[in-house]
Formats: sequence, structure tokens, C-alpha cells
Amino acid sequence: MVNLEIDRVSVRFALKGATVEAVNDVSLRIRPGECVALVGESGCGKTVLASALLGFLPGNAETSGSARLGDVDLLAATDHELATTIRGRKIGLIPQSPASHLTPVRTARSQLEEAAKVLGGDAGEAAERAGLLPEHLDRYPHELSGGMAQRVANALALVGNPPLLIADEPTTGLDRDLVDGLLDEFRRLVDDGHAVLLITHDLAAAHKVADRIAVMYAGRIVEVGPAHQVLDNAKHPYARGLANALPERDFLPVPGQPPLLTHLPAGCAFAPRCEQATAICEDRPVLTDDPHAVACHLPC
Ligand code: SF4
Repeated sequence: MVNLEIDRVSVRFALKGATVEAVNDVSLRIRPGECVALVGESGCGKTVLASALLGFLPGNAETSGSARLGDVDLLAATDHELATTIRGRKIGLIPQSPASHLTPVRTARSQLEEAAKVLGGDAGEAAERAGLLPEHLDRYPHELSGGMAQRVANALALVGNPPLLIADEPTTGLDRDLVDGLLDEFRRLVDDGHAVLLITHDLAAAHKVADRIAVMYAGRIVEVGPAHQVLDNAKHPYARGLANALPERDFLPVPGQPPLLTHLPAGCAFAPRCEQATAICEDRPVLTDDPHAVACHLPC
């Protein structure tokens, strides 16, 4: 089992006449046996960061920094290395809407056995770890419930026994019972020693399963720390707004809209939405170097 060390990663997309600064100077470490949730609104850069780790960025992307998984820098890997030695073997992807990622005309067993053959894994073991019974494996994707399709996707992600799992918005579209079952499943994988990066806009789900939560805003991490501290004692006004927006709390969304990633403010990107902003916020705040770190001049 190995650490994932994301070090000062930035991702930009060159468009005609503009540059999208999707991820800016992000550093994050995930250890074996740890789940880190990356949370934030749509478009904050969390899925772009996951795509960079998996080598799924389009041709107009420029990256800088490094993302080391053991002795491999994922950002420097070639397409061939990513396809033959990294995806499935070092990183398992648990996608959003798993049913749509399964081949409709083949049973779960056939898809799992083929993945096991390619990746050198054990289909039966992966199915058992994902909580699938033999009778589930003989079903076609349209015969699987949402929860079963999710378990097949988990088994496919696990079959090569990768040390790191990336789950991209896995709770989207699932009802609450399925979400709870899936989060329990992730927790078992973490307790088994896997490192899990959970990409989600669902702070409540993040709090249930993650050891640490990193909050992203406009391409930067603005707060990162132990999950209960980020939820119950958020220091950044944006993170506090997300926590207060939970249904069991005020249920009020954070007012305003995030800035365009083509026109980021020079100082704190949250300033136009922040009730605490003062002149000092015209300088960009830097993430502190603490176990519960924040990038804000006037933390809550
Ligand atoms: Fe608000 Fe200023 Fe903190 Fe930004 S740096 S979140 S504008 S108080």
C-alpha cells in the first residue's frame, strides 16, 4: 500500500482567447487506510483534479506539479503506462452512474472475469469483497438494482487490487438507503487498507465516510482537516456556508455564484460572496500548514 502525494498541481485549459484555470496549486496527501473527501460545488475543479490523476484530461489541458503514487508520477506517465500499469492496477475508478458504464449485453460475471483476466486479479474475490452473491453475477445490467449495479462497479474497480480508489460523485442519483450502503462499503475498503479519494458535492456523505475533508473553491483548496472539525468547526466562510446548508441545519444555500474560472479575482476568489471581506482580502490568502488548515485572512 502506498501514499498518494499531490504536490502543487495546477491544471489549465487553453481556449480560443481565454485560459480556464481549473485547478490551482493543489497539494494533498492520502495515506493507505484513509479516505479523503474532496467537496465543493460543481465546477470547483474536483473532477478535473481526479481526471488529471487518471490521465483523462483532454488535449488542450496543461498541467504542472506532481502527483506521486508510490514511485510513479501520475502526471508524467505516458498514455501507454496509464493504460497498462496504472488504471485498474494502481488506481480503481468507481464512476458516477455505474449502470451506464456496464456493457448491457454481457452478464456481470462475464465482465468481471474479463477484467480479472486483463488485470491479473481474482473475479470471485473481488465479487465477495464488493458484497455480491453468485446469483447476482449471472444477471445482465438491466436486471440489476441500482445498489447491485453499484456493487458490480465496485468489484470491477477492486479486481486488480489497486491501492487507491477514486470515487467520482458515487452517491449522485441514489436514494438514501443506497447511499448509506455504499458509504459503509467504502468504509470497509478503507479499513482493509485502501486509500480512497471521494469526490463529492455531498458534505453529509463526506462526513459519514471520510477521515479528512478538503473543501475546494474556484480551483483551490480553501480548508482541509479532520472530517468532524471541517463539518462542526469550519474556519473558512465558504466551508461554514456549505456546512450550514445541510438539510439538518439551516438548509440555506451559500448566496451568490462562484467566479468564472477564466476571470478569477486577483485576491481571495470567495470575496464577492463573503460577508467578512475587507481590504486585506485583495491579497490572495495562502493555505496554512496545520492539521486543520485554512486559506482565509479572517477565519471564522
Ligand atoms: Fe472572506 Fe477574506 Fe476570508 Fe476570503 S480571505 S474568505 S474574502 S474573509
